[in-house]
Formats: sequence, C-alpha cells, structure tokens
Amino acid sequence: MIYLDNAATTKPMQFFIDNCSDFLENKWFNPSAIYKDAVDTKSIVENTRELAQRSLGNKYNCYFSSCGTEGANLAIFGSLPKDVKGLRVITSATEHPCVYECFKELEGRGADVQYVNTDEYGVVDFEDFKHKLTPKTAFISIMHVNNITGGVNDINTLYEYSKNVCPDAVFHSDGVQGYLKTKTIPKCHIYTASGHKINALKGIGLIFVRKGFKFGGKLYGGGQEKGLRSGTENTLGIYSLNFAIDFWMHNLDDNLRHMSGLQKVFLEEISRLDGVVLNSCPGGSSHIINISFIGMGGEILLHSLEGEGIYVSTGSACSSRKKDPRLSNALGYDKSRAESQLRLSFTHDTTKDEVIYAANRIVDICNNHRILMRRKGR
Ligand code: PLP
Repeated sequence: MIYLDNAATTKPMQFFIDNCSDFLENKWFNPSAIYKDAVDTKSIVENTRELAQRSLGNKYNCYFSSCGTEGANLAIFGSLPKDVKGLRVITSATEHPCVYECFKELEGRGADVQYVNTDEYGVVDFEDFKHKLTPKTAFISIMHVNNITGGVNDINTLYEYSKNVCPDAVFHSDGVQGYLKTKTIPKCHIYTASGHKINALKGIGLIFVRKGFKFGGKLYGGGQEKGLRSGTENTLGIYSLNFAIDFWMHNLDDNLRHMSGLQKVFLEEISRLDGVVLNSCPGGSSHIINISFIGMGGEILLHSLEGEGIYVSTGSACSSRKKDPRLSNALGYDKSRAESQLRLSFTHDTTKDEVIYAANRIVDICNNHRILMRRKGR
C-alpha cells in the first residue's frame, strides 16, 4: 500500500504502537483517582499537556478534547452569549464543516454572519477581511491551513489587525491541518487541533487557550480539564499524543523540508502531462498538494489508483461522501476543475519512491483515459 491521504488521517507513531499494550495492561487507571497507579496515569496526562504547551512556545494553556470538531464547537459556542441576535461574527468561506456548520447555526439564530472571501488557494482576502471587520465584531474564526488546498492563512497578521479594530472580539483558529505543520506559532485566543493528523490516535483533540484570556466555554460535568472539558480523559489518546508531539516538535524543520521535497518531486513527475491545474499555491503547506487533471473524473482516478494500492483523496475525508460543491464554489473552480481534483497528502515517512511511483501511475492512467476518450470521439 502507498498511503498518500495523510490530511485525512495518519498512522499512529510506531514507538507508540510498541508501547501501547504496556499502557493498556498497566496504566489504564482513572487519572482523577488518588492512589499511586492512578497518579502515575495522571502524570502522563500532565506531561503531555506540558509538552503540548511547549510546542506552541508556552503561550497557551492546553486542554484535551475528543477531536478538532469538538474543539471548534466549544470555542465558538463557548465564546458567544446565548442570544446572538444581531451579533457580528466572521469566518471565511472555505472553512472546514466543523466551523462552517457552527456559523450556519449562528446564522439561524439571528447572528450577523459574514463570510470572508478567499483566493483560489483558500487564503483569506485581507481587503475583504478588513472590510467586514467592525468595532462591534464579537467573534472571528479563520482556519490556519486549508484542508483541501494546503493554503496557509497568516493568522498572526489577521489577529493583530482585528485587535486594533475590535479589541473585544475573540479570535479562534482551526489549527487541525496547521498544528506542527508550520513553523509559525499562531497568535490568537483559541487554537484547536486534532491528534490523528499528527500520527496520534483518533478521538483525541487539543484546545489551546491563550494564557491570560478568560474563556467561558465548558462542558458541564465532573470538572476534568480544569473544569473546561468534563469527562474522563482519553488517556490512551493522550499517551499517543505524547509520542506524536515530541516527534513533530523536534523534527519539524526536517519534516517540512522532506514533505516540500516530495511536492517538488511529484510536480516534476507529472509535468509530462497536459491539462494539469495546480490548486495548491507555492508557499502553501508542505503536506498537502491538490491538482486537477482536467478531463479526468477525480473519483475515477482515485479508484483506479486504489486498485493499485495507492490511497489518495478527491477532497476532504468528511465531505468526500457528500457531493457538496460549497468549497469548490468558494474557491472559484469551474466544473471541470472541481470534478477532476485529486489531493495527495504526505507525512514524515512518505518516501520519494512512493511519490514517484504514484505520479507515474497517475500519468499513465490519465494518458490511457484520454486515448480512450479520443477513440470514443469525446
Ligand atoms: N478542521 C480541519 C481543517 C480538518 O481538516 C479536519 C479533519 O479533516 C477537522 C477540522 C476535523 O477534525 P476531527 O476529525 O479531529 O474532528
């Protein structure tokens, strides 16, 4: 198998897998209990929290959640009052559904929702952002890295600008594709991330709350996670994060260089093919590359590759089963560009040979398809 769908999910770190059964045999205690074995489990939770906080320069307090979706929901609904009628809230048109659907809900409750335009790479149009920001803006949510194109938003500039115009606004950023995949430490009030995108387990998320910022959101219950997110901690998930954060934090430069190199190799290999449109921008995220192979159905290409043991995606995993044109429309793609999209996404251990092999298979499949279409007179 050649797995090139790491923006959908990643394989847990081998070190973690090797230590997993020991954890399940010996460290399965409830971290809230006060006997020694439970205290040992609690110390794994706290060590991981410290590590996560260090990974963002100790600027944030970290709380564990179940996933990126939960974090975004908590950030959005936890920052706003119950009655949102007339409140101005801002997001971008190309957010992941975990943010976009929250804003749709806010719209239904009467909030004044503004969707900022992006360019074709999913990067926020700064002029439009400035135009939509008012002194009364209550909440802003702009994703760090776009999951379809890999476009990177300059969160720090957007945050700093918003602080001047609307100092009371809360700024959230969905960092699920950006956390430990970019060198910049994001500046905002709440930054949410997800374990399974950085080689930890599914079912574990991170909510980073800027130190000094009073966040009112909470999940009511037993008061775990300093009262912010009640519920017995997913200790195995947290343990998996410990390995994953440590690895990504200490190898970030090498990993980014490696994945950028893979993007370059891929583009060189497919440059033999006509009708290729690059949907990822230069300077975008290193782990995502999105290309349209005009005239090919993205799904046909995906399944042809799957038949050869190569796993890629036509878009995000969550929307790939739903035919939702929202993102392609927001990015300004025409029908042929939208339908022929393929997203390849890499991780630290994706190899150059795997990428060359996949690229060559794509070139062959596209060429054969085009010859067939020509023969059929289409
Ligand atoms: N935000 C972005 C940008 C994503 O790519 C994803 C998942 O693909 C999510 C949020 C949702 O994360 P989770 O699956 O942890 O809920």
